[in-house]
Amino acid sequence: MNKFPTKLLLNGKWLEGSGASRLVVTNPATEETFAEVSSATVGEIGSAAEAGQVAFESSWRDMPPGQRAELLRGIAKLIRENTESIAQLETRNVGKPIGDARWEIDAGAKVFEYYAGAIGHLCGQTIPVARGGLDFTLRQPMGVIAAITPWNFPFLIACWKVAPALAAGNSVVLKPASLTPLTALCLGQLAQEAGLPDGVLQVLPGSGHEAGNALATHPLIRKIGFTGSTEVGAKIMKLAADDIKRVSLELGGKSPNIVFADADWHRAALESPMSVFANTGQDCCARSRMFIEQSIFDDFVSQFVSATEELNIGDPLLDDTQIGPMVSSDQRELSESFIAEAKGDGRNVLTGGERLSGSGFYLKPAVVTGTEINDRVWREEIFGPVVCLRPFSDEAAMISEVNDTSFGLSGSVWSKDLNRALRVANRVESGVISINSHSSVHTEAPFGGFKSSGLGRDLGMSAMEACTEIKNIYVGE
Ligand code: NAD
Repeated sequence: MNKFPTKLLLNGKWLEGSGASRLVVTNPATEETFAEVSSATVGEIGSAAEAGQVAFESSWRDMPPGQRAELLRGIAKLIRENTESIAQLETRNVGKPIGDARWEIDAGAKVFEYYAGAIGHLCGQTIPVARGGLDFTLRQPMGVIAAITPWNFPFLIACWKVAPALAAGNSVVLKPASLTPLTALCLGQLAQEAGLPDGVLQVLPGSGHEAGNALATHPLIRKIGFTGSTEVGAKIMKLAADDIKRVSLELGGKSPNIVFADADWHRAALESPMSVFANTGQDCCARSRMFIEQSIFDDFVSQFVSATEELNIGDPLLDDTQIGPMVSSDQRELSESFIAEAKGDGRNVLTGGERLSGSGFYLKPAVVTGTEINDRVWREEIFGPVVCLRPFSDEAAMISEVNDTSFGLSGSVWSKDLNRALRVANRVESGVISINSHSSVHTEAPFGGFKSSGLGRDLGMSAMEACTEIKNIYVGE
């Protein structure tokens, strides 16, 4: 895939968008522009919604499940055959280290394989109703589903949205983030090569305020599967309310990382930097608020800072790079503003916060202590390489501090006392929590947030069921 698509994939055809504006694609490691992509207009979104409806009714909805599963397996196979070229493109577009990009593309293939298998497990129920007769439910597809995705995991999150929706028998219009449209277009191309009927998966890059907005308001779109910021998620929910569109929202986070003194805390100190600085902190699951038991606080901080300083920052195309540049100059400036404010408030920035010399939107991971709970750096999602650590002494007080946030996406608890770890995990208000681990995402398990971190779940059977309507059928005696 040396040549990559840059046009709109609309009803099986690659079209130059009719709008005047184009999306400019920049390599964050060099700051050079390397592609321009068509940007869908409101009219083109409308055409895609109509074509999606035709494809849904004429081919996809009624295709035998086994045949649909074979097509999804075919997409997975093509993703695997093209992993290296898609990963290279993802790295050039997002700035993420090539090793991470390879992992994400491979994970995208697994998502398609999982949902190909899941098709055979999408079952209704038979229900013993009081008056007798036969009562049963069907899980029926909805129609055209829109997937609106962010720039931090462009290929993988597109797979999370597209695969369960297709598996359940819906057609999909995918709108990737305007900063990172390329690998979503590759997914569209591979789906075409795999033999998906025209209009079943359409990919239309475009701006949020034009293309995204048009999807959220189009009457033929039955559901919006959105991943992005809490602010835009709330806007989409309001837009969707007018015609009661279904929404699933995966939004921001400010996740806790809780380390008790009885944990293998040396290991936690060594592994925790990557739980917040991976993808240069541009990760909704980033564990950016750390709660460390007072008795180990100083030693833990010192080991955590050393481990952070050992991270290999640089050219994301090199195999041993762990931290690449941020996605854009704006994102870097946003993180820098939080660091400057923390310094201005007299907080301790123990390491990091500086740019690397030369080109590229690099920012060294910053470690902050001495914050107060009302500091912006402690409370707000930064979406950059900044972490705050605070000590705690009392478990109950710590848990109320952990939950004193509007977010509730993910988090970790470190303790060798499993009763304690489970007690704390049970009390933390978040959709996902890991014990003695930083792993949050598993293809087979539901992923999503409490409170302002979202509504509904990606992955697992939950995501596929959420792309269906339940129909109850009663047969009288
Ligand atoms: P964003 O909200 O700015 O954009 C997300 C998508 O929404 C993009 O495709 C954008 O074009 C579109 N959009 C913007 N305005 C729109 C509008 N008015 N109508 C319809 N669509 C619109 O988010 P981002 O900056 O791309 O991504 C970062 C955010 O995503 C962070 O807050 C992060 O925590 C969150 N995120 C969450 C998860 C999760 O699974 N919970 C995963 C990754 C990222």
